[in-house]
Amino acid sequence: MSRIDLHLHTTHSDGSLSPAEVLRLAHNAGVTALAITDHDIVSGIPDAIAAGAELGIEIIPGVEISSSIGKSELHILGYCMDWQSPDLLRRLAALRVSRHTRNPQIIERLRALGLEVTYEEVRALAGTDSVGRPHIARLLIEKKYVSSAKDAFDRYLAEGRPAYVARDLPLPADAIAWIRAAGGVAVLAHPTWAKVSGEGLNTLLTALKTDGLGGLEVHYSTHTKRQTTEYLDLAKRLDLLVTGGSDFHGLTKPDIEVGTGRGGLKVSEKLLAPLKKAALHAHHS
Ligand SMILES: [Zn+2]
Ligand SMILES: [Zn+2]
Repeated sequence: MSRIDLHLHTTHSDGSLSPAEVLRLAHNAGVTALAITDHDIVSGIPDAIAAGAELGIEIIPGVEISSSIGKSELHILGYCMDWQSPDLLRRLAALRVSRHTRNPQIIERLRALGLEVTYEEVRALAGTDSVGRPHIARLLIEKKYVSSAKDAFDRYLAEGRPAYVARDLPLPADAIAWIRAAGGVAVLAHPTWAKVSGEGLNTLLTALKTDGLGGLEVHYSTHTKRQTTEYLDLAKRLDLLVTGGSDFHGLTKPDIEVGTGRGGLKVSEKLLAPLKKAALHAHHS
């Protein structure tokens, strides 16, 4: 049974497995094409391409950029872009600098709460430049302050919890523009994060489409059948491409598997051709 997975994280951001390890799992799951979409970083792509060549898995260049508008944090996926574009690399590097501003503030709050942690420890454990809250959660688990990543977020790190610090994020329109400038297609990830549905989501997507949004992540590990149907209808209505992926993170999200999500995910390889065609068009316009 052949399937694709266009949303995967590795040790290059907050996933717990290397690109080669993720590719091995994808191969076992019958995945024929995939995109590594690490947060604000594309450094995992070369290893993925090398492993993909060995295993016969096509690698779609990908990235996931965090953005916010109003009270919603929206994640914009980029596909089929020139991932070595100097402009794109410069912009992603700037986003990672803003992570290094926020994380020490989170650490300060944790220390004020009596937890003995340092940002140096988090950076050493992360082993990547794209450091995020899941890395802090991992340190808290290691030091036995919490029992799991979920416990860390529920008690300290989630919005509204005592160690939460908001981050300066770009607008979705900026993230979309950067991806398009590199010849890629911009897609709204996990639309439930928009915290609106029905007409509200229709309005948001219409605005994002004006900004250059090309697709919607319709198929996703945690979507219910009803949500998938709603998003599919919206994509059709607004003439947005349909994409899908597991958002695999390894141990950070232990219930999500590569290719199959929580078991019911099946992203058809038929979605690939329109995505590539749209990117090709972007390169020429
Ligand atoms: Zn995301
Ligand atoms: Zn993701």
